[in-house]
Amino acid sequence: GSERDALSGASPDGLPPLREVIRTFELNAKKSLGQNFILDLNLTRRIARAAGSLEGKTVVEVGPGPGGLTRALLMEGAARVIAVERDERTRGALDMIAQRYPGRLDVHFGDALEADWPRILGDTREALIVANLPYGVATLLLTGWLDTEPWPPWFQRMVLMFQQEVAERIVAQPGTKAYGRLSVLAQWRSAPRIVLKVPPEAFTPPPKVSSAVVELVPHKAPSPDCSPRTLARVTAAAFGQRRKMLRASLKQLMPEPERLLEAVGIAGNLRAENLSVKDFARMALVFERSTLSRA
Ligand code: SAM
Repeated sequence: GSERDALSGASPDGLPPLREVIRTFELNAKKSLGQNFILDLNLTRRIARAAGSLEGKTVVEVGPGPGGLTRALLMEGAARVIAVERDERTRGALDMIAQRYPGRLDVHFGDALEADWPRILGDTREALIVANLPYGVATLLLTGWLDTEPWPPWFQRMVLMFQQEVAERIVAQPGTKAYGRLSVLAQWRSAPRIVLKVPPEAFTPPPKVSSAVVELVPHKAPSPDCSPRTLARVTAAAFGQRRKMLRASLKQLMPEPERLLEAVGIAGNLRAENLSVKDFARMALVFERSTLSRA
């Protein structure tokens, strides 16, 4: 049990405790890289288990850092972990894990925002994404994955740690303050839900705000099937001036929004937060068809 491990100083995987790893490899946290580490393997194992059974699965992890979540994923049975980490200082710590689990951990050093995922995955067609994301780039990484083409994507599920405020925006329903562009983009292509709330004290160093783990299961066939780029444009215009009525805010996008709104059957005096995810996708579809037909 974890109590005995704590007394003996050993971790259940036989590797040194994370505090010691951080000391040995001098991994003092860098703020610029969003480094808030989780050193409690019981917690990282709970996050790993939130992704469901990992037996035989390939897991993509962004930002393994000293390897707390990586170790948990391997302990919970992941056949392979493919990690992308920007900080080269973590090489020693991650090498140690790779040696403990031969052939099961690949680490790519570089910026995950620039990653060519299909190339990194090689022959692997199916994977899960599990990560304690660096907060500075968390939403960009998420929207990048949500933009994946073709769809359904190469990942069967994402289990991602965000700042709680961002997590709440991802799952927000129409008519609430948190409902916005990110809610629409996430919910059009996936079913997101918050699976775990994590207080600041769980991290080293503790961030200022609470965090939450969000599970996103991709929809096989998002409907209506507009292009993600058009949906991004329509939601940017509508929520960019969220207090305005749609007939005004959509002028960003086209000279006569009334025609589009009429074609989709949405009243021009509504505001962005009144529309459902489907409304936005329908609007995007009609918009792209009309611009296509004009081109
Ligand atoms: N997985 C570790 C854990 O749970 O303790 C570390 C999580 S920490 C919140 C975020 C990690 O992402 C750090 O290790 C940081 O170096 C890495 N990182 C930051 N920006 C990155 C980027 N653009 N691409 C890849 N990794 C990045």
